[in-house]
Amino acid sequence: MSYPYVILKSGRERSVLRRHPWIFSGAVARVEGQPANGEVVEVRDAGGGWLARGYINRHSQITVRILTWDPDEGIDRAFWRRRLEQAVASRATLSRDPGTTAYRLVHAESDGLPGLVADRYGECVVVQFLTLGLERWREEILDGLADLLAPQTIFERSDVEVREKEGLPPRVGRLRGEEPPQRLEILEHGHRFWVEVQTGQKTGFYLDQRENRARLPAFCAEAEMLDGFSYTGAFGVYAACGGAARVTFVETSGPALGVARQNLALNGQRPEEHEFVEGNAFQVLRGFRAEGRTFDLIVLDPPKFAPTARDVRRAARGYKDINLLAFQLLRPGGILFSTSCSGAISADLFQKILFGAALDAGREAQIIGYLHQGSDHPVALTFPEGTYLKGLICRVW
Ligand code: SAH
Repeated sequence: MSYPYVILKSGRERSVLRRHPWIFSGAVARVEGQPANGEVVEVRDAGGGWLARGYINRHSQITVRILTWDPDEGIDRAFWRRRLEQAVASRATLSRDPGTTAYRLVHAESDGLPGLVADRYGECVVVQFLTLGLERWREEILDGLADLLAPQTIFERSDVEVREKEGLPPRVGRLRGEEPPQRLEILEHGHRFWVEVQTGQKTGFYLDQRENRARLPAFCAEAEMLDGFSYTGAFGVYAACGGAARVTFVETSGPALGVARQNLALNGQRPEEHEFVEGNAFQVLRGFRAEGRTFDLIVLDPPKFAPTARDVRRAARGYKDINLLAFQLLRPGGILFSTSCSGAISADLFQKILFGAALDAGREAQIIGYLHQGSDHPVALTFPEGTYLKGLICRVW
């Protein structure tokens, strides 16, 4: 099988040889064979030597996403099937855990499937096709997932901004099997949660925090806890089940807070013993400070403040402000769980931001743990861009 090809500028083959899966437009010398956007192409070095095979989209800054470095590996139905099989197999331990029914099945580039995300919510698989190159293989991919997992339903939540960069409109809807229920119940470490896959944020739930949430109960006994940016209350539910005396959920989305209340009840907790504050966490925490309120445990899980590298300065200010408030609200000996899901903010920078915030708050803090995206959101060593969620557990004096 031979495909049209992309010739790189001299020297620009280096990252390909190091198995980085992205080729930026600036690295491309010329394209031969008139491939349509989305089509599979060969990648060659300036001297014509074969390097890799991937899909092209000249509409995107990332002109080629590499699918294989093996000259003998064609891109066909069997290719997608093999890659999906490997991704699913690497989640085998998770899939056997009766206490957890929701996790990520495919984490895009880091699973050798650039542009594809698939999350499992029990009998429902939710997919995101993020690139044009992948759109062309929808049926093969859906067949593979259906075959490997036999879910009751496969639902699409490709309503994400990155598709715009690919020249693609958002797409949402049922793809295979039954219409998913408006809300379905999942288990995470034995905790029960309602998930709305059709309308919830992301594909319905922040699965990437699963392993971090599991670390929370160690700090919960009798605690007054603040769950900042709570969404549907996952952290707070763990805390309440782990013995926290009272959880204060802070979230801008009223509907998400409503689900948080129901999630507490679903886990045998009494919502009326907890507090639900609908509002901007920056303002709400400032208000708490003015009232002299304090907490034993604060979780901060804000949305991505830095969508791109250009936003880093502004985002750093946001992270500093909110963490400064948290440091001020914690009682001596209190615990801060603070995370950032901005890929553009490195773990190192995040630690520096927290350092600055503690200093300005006049508090001493110790790092007692490091937080990261769960193992079902792997990071290929060749693709450090796959790291996005990082955080610290600090004890504050
Ligand atoms: N901790 C949650 C996930 C949080 S995602 C979990 O474990 O499931 C970030 C949340 O912050 C979103 O639900 C979003 O609606 C909310 N949010 C965004 N900006 C906010 C703000 N300024 N104040 C409070 N909540 C905000």
